[in-house]
Amino acid sequence: MSVKPATTPDGYCTNTAPVPGTIRAVNAKNTGPKYFHLHGRSYAGCPCGRTSIGVTERDNLRRHKPPQE
Ligand SMILES: [Zn+2]
Repeated sequence: MSVKPATTPDGYCTNTAPVPGTIRAVNAKNTGPKYFHLHGRSYAGCPCGRTSIGVTERDNLRRHKPPQE
């Protein structure tokens, strides 16, 4: 069992540091006009197991909840 970040009392993950190597930017040219509103946004994974979490301008993960086990 791997070490997972702590969670707040209301169930949110306290970790805000993306897992290195998981950050990816959405390129609308590859996904088509349907996803153009996502263009330029970045997503990354968290050690809690959650993936595709939005990343802020400061490279912090947005607030999220760990996956249910
Ligand atoms: Zn997390």
